[in-house]
Amino acid sequence: MLKGKSAVVTGSTSGIGLGIARALAKEGVNLMLNGFGDAAEIEKLRAGIAAEFGVKVVYDGADMSKGEAIAAFIKKSEQELGGIDILVNNAGIQFVSPVDEFPDAKWEAIQSINLSSSFHCIKTALPGMKNKGWGRIVNIASAHGLIASPFKSAYVAAKHGQVGLTKSVALEVAEAGITVNAICPGYVRTPLVENQIDDQAKAHNMPRDKVIREVILAVQPTRRFVEIEEVAALAVYLCGDAAKSITGTAIAIDGGWTAR
Ligand code: NAD
Repeated sequence: MLKGKSAVVTGSTSGIGLGIARALAKEGVNLMLNGFGDAAEIEKLRAGIAAEFGVKVVYDGADMSKGEAIAAFIKKSEQELGGIDILVNNAGIQFVSPVDEFPDAKWEAIQSINLSSSFHCIKTALPGMKNKGWGRIVNIASAHGLIASPFKSAYVAAKHGQVGLTKSVALEVAEAGITVNAICPGYVRTPLVENQIDDQAKAHNMPRDKVIREVILAVQPTRRFVEIEEVAALAVYLCGDAAKSITGTAIAIDGGWTAR
């Protein structure tokens, strides 16, 4: 059903975004990849996905903290892919600090990358989707879009904002054949979380395995990480025809974390 459609996945050179890009490619979806990293490694990724799944895969390293660059990135994606059917707003960063010591620049970066980039991508991609009468927007929020943890004020604020944006846009386009949903994962073992494990190990003066057991997975009742492939499968489901009445939701995939 998704074969021949086109998707933009922001922050898809690593972690969850890469997993979603691969899962969409497996369904026959052509891709615009985005994100930072070593140029040769990214080219290997791009060519590898294209060869493995027989789809068109292009890459643009637009910085998701810059509104104007994002508008140009979406226009370029439309040209290269012949329009955008699916938009996955996934790029995100984390920084952990008490709020009274939180560096202003980190606050601003988290708001722009984790929240405003979704607004800019949606704003620019939506007219094309409206013309087609079909579209899927999947925002990768977080369990922290639904609940809070201490020392993550910028991230929690941005992710709650992303859930609010999801609901508002879903209402605006409800009759246009476009769905807008947020996925709210618990802890997924990606570079973003590996860095947090290092930071917490230093802060608590604990070995890494103890941090994983007693700090990270303590909040996740299943006591295991959510896998990238599980999040990717949910994203693919939301893009399918069976999910056409699912819109404006924030779906937790968090091992029971937010049920507490
Ligand atoms: P990751 O660090 O593995 O990947 C982040 C991606 O975003 C990378 O491709 C990176 O290059 C890209 N990126 C970062 N800054 C960018 C910028 N300014 N412009 C363009 N691309 C940029 O992290 P991840 O864990 O895969 O996170 C992906 C998303 O999932 C984030 O929005 C994150 O908040 C969310 N999330 C992650 C977890 C988790 O446990 N890993 C849980 C809930 C939500």
